[in-house]
Amino acid sequence: MCHSEQLNKTAELHEFYSDLHIHIGRTKNGQAVKISGSRNLTFENIAKEAALRKGIEMIGIIDCHSPFVQDDIMTCLDSGIMKEIEGGGIAYQDTVILLGSEIEIRNTGAKGAAHVLTYFRDLDTMQDFTRWMTRYMKNVGLSSQRIYVQPRELQQEIIDRGGILIPAHVFTPHKGLYGSMSRKMSDVFDLRGIAGIELGLSADSSMAGYLSELDGYSFLTNSDAHSLGKIGREYNKIRMLNPSFDEFRLALERKAGRQVTANYGLDPRLGKYHRTFCSGCNSILDDEAVVSLADRCPYCGSIKMVQGVFDRIMSIADREEPFLPIHRPPYCYQVPLEFIPGLGKASILKLLEAFGTEMAILHRASEQDIASVVGEVLAHRIVMARNGTLELSSGGGGVYGKVVRK
Ligand SMILES: [Zn+2]
Ligand SMILES: [Zn+2]
Repeated sequence: MCHSEQLNKTAELHEFYSDLHIHIGRTKNGQAVKISGSRNLTFENIAKEAALRKGIEMIGIIDCHSPFVQDDIMTCLDSGIMKEIEGGGIAYQDTVILLGSEIEIRNTGAKGAAHVLTYFRDLDTMQDFTRWMTRYMKNVGLSSQRIYVQPRELQQEIIDRGGILIPAHVFTPHKGLYGSMSRKMSDVFDLRGIAGIELGLSADSSMAGYLSELDGYSFLTNSDAHSLGKIGREYNKIRMLNPSFDEFRLALERKAGRQVTANYGLDPRLGKYHRTFCSGCNSILDDEAVVSLADRCPYCGSIKMVQGVFDRIMSIADREEPFLPIHRPPYCYQVPLEFIPGLGKASILKLLEAFGTEMAILHRASEQDIASVVGEVLAHRIVMARNGTLELSSGGGGVYGKVVRK
C-alpha cells in the first residue's frame, strides 16, 4: 500500500468506547445464567444501557454460549431491533455487541483454575462452539463453567473457528491465570494463539510490565459487570474504522492503524485483591514489604492469607523494573462515583439527571457545574478523583480499597 493511501485509511479511523466483559444475569423469561448477576441484566437491557445511558459503542457480552441466551439473541434479531453486521457482531442502534463466552480452565498438575474470554464473529459460529463445548461441560447454559479439556485443546478449537482468545482478569487470586494457576502463560497456552490480555480490577499496565511474556500483547480493561450499573466501570478506547469483530481483531494486533489507544481502569489500590489479606486477623498487609504466601502474617502469625495482585506480580516478576513498550497506550485511573466519600445514592442520581452519564460527571463536567448540583465539598472531591489526587488505602482479600476521608 502506498503512503498516501495509508494516510487516507488512517483518516477514516475513529476512537470507540468499548467494554468487553459483561455478564448476563437472567434471560428475558427469567432463566438464570449467572446466579450472582442481577435479574434485569438481560441481553436486550445490556444493549440498551450501553447505547442509551453509558454511551459505550462496543460491548462484549460473555455469556453468549448459553443456549438460553442464544434464544434471546434470536428474538432480538427476528424482531428487527438488532441486526448482525458485516464485520461481525450485532448492532443495536449505535452500539455493536460482540458475542463472547467466559470459560473456566484447569491445567493438569496446576493448582488452581483460571478464566478465559473468547469471542466469535457471528451467532452461527457461537452455536457451533456451544455444540462442541456441551460435550465437555456439565451445564453449558450457565456462566463461566469449567470445561474438562486441556487449555491448549480449547485454544485450538477457538482458533479453528476464527475466534479470539483473551485470558481474563489475569492477576486476580480468584481465577486469574497468573493469580491462581501458573507463573508463566506459556505453561498453559501457545503464546501465538493469545489475542490480548485482560488486566482485571486490581492491576494496571505498569504492574503488568514486570512480566516480559506480556510485552507484545494489547491490554484490555473491562468492567466484568454483574449489574447494569457496573457496565463501563472499566473500559477501553479503541481506534477502528467502525465497531465490529474484524476491526476489534485488527486493533488487538495493532494492524493498519487500529489499536487500543487508552485503558480506563480503577486505581489498582481500590481493587478488591490489590494487597495480601490475612483472614486470621482480617488485616490488609500493605506495608512496603511484599508478603509471599510462604510467609506468616506479620501481625498475628497466621498462614491463612489471600495473596494480593501486587504481591503476586512481585513474586513472579522476571524484571526489576516495569517495562512499557512503545505501543502501550496510557492507563487512565478512574475513581467511580460510588467510591467518593459522602456521595450517596441520592446525590449520584441528581448528578446523573444533570449530566447524563457517569463518564460525563467523572471526566467532563466543570467543578462549578457539579457544585451547583451537590455542593462545593463534593464537587471538589469529584475533581480530585479526576486528577488522581485523592488519598487511597489499598484493598485486599475481597474488600475494595477506600478513599481516605479527610
Ligand atoms: Zn471471571
Ligand atoms: Zn466475568
